[in-house]
Amino acid sequence: MLLALFWLLFVGLLLCAFLFSKTTKEFPKSWFEWKTEFRYQYLGIVGLIHDAHYAARDRVALYKQPDRIAVITGGNRGIGLRIVEKLLACDMTVVMGVRDPTSAEAAVGAIVDLKESKGKLICEQLDVGDLKSVQAFAQRIKERYTKVDLLLNNAGIMFAPFKLTADGYESHFATNYLGHFLLSHLLLPRLKAAGKPGKNARIVNVSSCVNLIGRINYKDINGNQQYYPGTAYSQSKLAQILYTRHLQTLLDAEKSHVQVNVVHPGIVDTDLFEHSATTSVPMFKKLFFKTPERGSRTVVFAAIDPSIEGQGGTYLSNGGKGPFHPDARKPEKCEKFFKFSCELLKIKQYGNGEY
Ligand code: NAP
Repeated sequence: MLLALFWLLFVGLLLCAFLFSKTTKEFPKSWFEWKTEFRYQYLGIVGLIHDAHYAARDRVALYKQPDRIAVITGGNRGIGLRIVEKLLACDMTVVMGVRDPTSAEAAVGAIVDLKESKGKLICEQLDVGDLKSVQAFAQRIKERYTKVDLLLNNAGIMFAPFKLTADGYESHFATNYLGHFLLSHLLLPRLKAAGKPGKNARIVNVSSCVNLIGRINYKDINGNQQYYPGTAYSQSKLAQILYTRHLQTLLDAEKSHVQVNVVHPGIVDTDLFEHSATTSVPMFKKLFFKTPERGSRTVVFAAIDPSIEGQGGTYLSNGGKGPFHPDARKPEKCEKFFKFSCELLKIKQYGNGEY
């Protein structure tokens, strides 16, 4: 009897855990959707354990670098806001590419004394899911600055319902990946101008541990035939890693002083989870997820830490190297996807800044 009760309780708890940590508020409708959910739950648990286990390693030392210019996408809330706070504390000039520059400046102003800060904040309009907006943003940066030291591709969306952007791309693919792929291409000449021997300019792509379950669906990149938000998100996060790895190969070949790294910031309590069932358990998130401040640490570490100078192409998590998708270890797979992206955007020579 006691044993039966124990099992009943155990199964009940498992069911509750499953229901409250689903990537969507809907119920899975097919085996494909169930499988995706189970894989997310597994990665979520492993991710939380990794965050707890490596909490002591998850640190970044801030130091003054007033001559450096950093460009970040997003930054008005969540992890990005805390990244901006840290970069300003290093006395950098920080250019935020945001959808609403006025409210973004107010958001930063609420946590940083912008009048006293030696760091300088500039907020520019950018919708990274819109290729024309990316082009216009990059153009404004190029007109204003002759060099860019850091580019942090941070903006992102997760588990959003199916939507095509004005350019005809699925919104996760467009926002999390393609817009950033284009922005990096357009700003690379300025990054190359900033990098020096022993002091690389850096690109940091904010990816996610869910890259591990990602798959690039070349035949249907938008997921028109079978769309599931979790699959679209993991595809976009794997895309960031494949592109990072191949771009570093190209940069190394031309001996340029630019390095590109990719980061999993941890499982962080932000609005990113707005479409997931975890919104019903805010206390759980408060207790077990990282705060946005902690989530910003490895991203800033990737951007400024001298210990990883010259180590481009690495995937960082909790202040150290982390496990990533096996495809990203295969140069031919990275190159194939990179070329595919260039073809989508009709880029002939990646990194020449022309579009
Ligand atoms: P968040 O709090 O939801 O912030 C998302 C940011 O992206 C906001 O600044 C948002 O600006 C911006 N953004 C979204 N779509 C945009 C667009 N089309 N154009 C310009 N900006 C746009 O999420 P977060 O947790 O800080 O996420 C930051 C990054 O970390 C994302 O790339 C995410 O995938 C990654 N990440 C997060 C977690 C986590 O657990 N939170 C885990 C792994 C990876 P608006 O205010 O204009 O929407």
